[in-house]
Amino acid sequence: MTESIVALKQFGFISIFPEMLSGLTEWGVTGRAARDQLFTVETVDPRQFATDKHGTVDDRPYGGGPGMLMKAPILSQSVRKAKQLLGDDALVVAMSPQGAPVDEAMIARLVAHKAIIFVAGRYEGFDERFLEQDVDLELSVGDMVVSGGEMPAMLVMDSLIRRIPGVLGDEMSAEQDSFVDGLLDCPHYTRPEIFEGRAVPEVLLSGDHARIADWRAAQALKRTLDRRPDLLDWADLTDEQRVMLARWDLNAHL
Ligand code: SAH
Repeated sequence: MTESIVALKQFGFISIFPEMLSGLTEWGVTGRAARDQLFTVETVDPRQFATDKHGTVDDRPYGGGPGMLMKAPILSQSVRKAKQLLGDDALVVAMSPQGAPVDEAMIARLVAHKAIIFVAGRYEGFDERFLEQDVDLELSVGDMVVSGGEMPAMLVMDSLIRRIPGVLGDEMSAEQDSFVDGLLDCPHYTRPEIFEGRAVPEVLLSGDHARIADWRAAQALKRTLDRRPDLLDWADLTDEQRVMLARWDLNAHL
């Protein structure tokens, strides 16, 4: 597993829909971690800084065109408020399809921060000057556009929370997950032993732990080669795995 220093304890969540956060803080592993106070989240609703009685946080773009933009002064005040709650050294991350793509290496870097403030966009996004002035990092969760930054931010927070010691029990170790060693995970099976005529691979029933470990390692490698060969450029492979890959590559060309 990629070793990373985990300092992360606190999140900020700047959003006009702070209630959406319950999808993260009330369910499953992340919900339990929230109840156990393994992390905390401070929410800031930009509407509190609106200057009209309608709570307007957006405005029309200069130069015309469709859609509305979130206003820089209101977002800037929201970040200031979040920093009052979390400290001035909190990392400010804006969610954007134009941001750096999130991968496990990025997650490993982010967990080294004690506090991270996520800013969720809505409408057509942010006034550029807010990004220049207040934001340390823009992150994208993939090359598609969704309607708001809440779910992208929660996705990243979930992945970060899994790295906090004590969140995953031993029985759910993250060490075997996809990407942590640069490869995809191997296939897994549970009861029944035969499902609609499909049997569990014999080796998994053998009780031979060394053989099982070898089989899993080979499957993870094969799967990565088949589905995500791009990952192999970066994976930290053993000599044994390199030999295996070379052999498969050779077979494919015979
Ligand atoms: N006009 C913008 C998209 C706005 S979508 C553009 O083309 O770049 C509204 C908000 O949803 C964004 O401000 C962002 O916070 C969020 N969002 C949409 N797609 C996202 C993605 N792939 N990754 C992260 N955030 C995203």
